[in-house]
Amino acid sequence: TPEAALVDSLIASIPDFPEHGVTFRDLTPVFADGPALKALAEALTAPFAGRFDYLGGLEARGFLIAGAASLVSGAGVLSVRKAGKLPRAVLSQEYALEYSTAALEVHVDQLPPGSRVLIVDDVLATGGTALAAVNLIERAGWQVAGFAVALELDGLGGRAKLEARGIETFSLLKY
Ligand code: 5GP
Repeated sequence: TPEAALVDSLIASIPDFPEHGVTFRDLTPVFADGPALKALAEALTAPFAGRFDYLGGLEARGFLIAGAASLVSGAGVLSVRKAGKLPRAVLSQEYALEYSTAALEVHVDQLPPGSRVLIVDDVLATGGTALAAVNLIERAGWQVAGFAVALELDGLGGRAKLEARGIETFSLLKY
């Protein structure tokens, strides 16, 4: 699609970042381009049209996509934050990183019970982050409408993990 081609043309690939042997996919040029950011927001929300009430933005790059997707869809944003940032009562979900753990958090009472949340992020790799967000949203009493991501890194198992949990997954691009 033209949207996919536009976004693809703006992704920068950085060898050996953040460590040797890893190629980091940098989407900041997509975020810096108004028409590309809008096209991305439209492409990620269109497959789920009428099936979600909120965008779940994953800190930090997912926030940028969620904000843009909010304006093209009319749905508000659920802030899914890294541990320790939210000021009121939270639910917390730990997940494994390569050599440590991290946690995502939401305000327990942020959305009405049963709200349908479309989770958005920039990159899907192993799926650990996305799955933590799924667990968190379900534990909070909301429903996951799906997971939409700009770029899916193939062969790292992310999609399989999400689909095994019954989560519909859409990626605009696959590398
Ligand atoms: P996962 O949990 O699926 O292994 O990793 C996905 C999370 O790490 C996402 O929140 C994503 O923003 C970040 N991430 C992992 N690899 C990359 C990458 O190459 N580029 C960017 N921009 N983010 C990445």
